[in-house]
Amino acid sequence: MNDHKLLLLANKAWAEQLRDERPDYFARQAEEQKPNFLWIGCSDSRVAPDQITNSPPGVMSIHRNVANLVYEEDRNFMAVLQTAIERTKVRHIILCGHYGCGGVQQGWKQEGRGAIGEWVSGVHDVYVEHREEVDALPEGQRLNRMVELNVRDQLVRLARMDLIQSTFAAGHELMLHGWVYDLRDGILKPLMMIDAQTRLDTVERPQPVLV
Ligand SMILES: [Zn+2]
Repeated sequence: MNDHKLLLLANKAWAEQLRDERPDYFARQAEEQKPNFLWIGCSDSRVAPDQITNSPPGVMSIHRNVANLVYEEDRNFMAVLQTAIERTKVRHIILCGHYGCGGVQQGWKQEGRGAIGEWVSGVHDVYVEHREEVDALPEGQRLNRMVELNVRDQLVRLARMDLIQSTFAAGHELMLHGWVYDLRDGILKPLMMIDAQTRLDTVERPQPVLV
């Protein structure tokens, strides 16, 4: 059988099972969405945010791109962010990288061409900023430290955006979290947190969790 048909069959089985267990489930889902989290993560197929956090539908809005980058010029990302802040009023934004990230590798080493090369150029900016620390590490530890530093720099960049600053200033409850996912054990590792009290000009580099 074709692989894509398996997906449709699996979907049918999933919906039927849920309907059996909770007959009002889909009627309630259709009413409105009230997610508590916005997840910003990498497109890597192995880092499925709702599965690795055991979150049912409705709990998190999800935005994914190669190497979990945030650019103010990215209208797609900014539209997701604006919706999460203004409409669904999420209380937590989680920006999550993952060790062994191919996008971070491409950006750091400037290996990508065309659209991907252009997209991950933001990672090279991270390398330029932290070159001294990264270059001082043994070769085998550099990529994973780049992953951590990329989470840090993207989170700070996110925190500086007007939309986030005005939400902090208005006193709304909002926390920004920087996490890393380890493909080898399936565990999420919290790196850092930013809230309304954080002074962005003094945000330290996170301690290496795993290099
Ligand atoms: Zn990745």
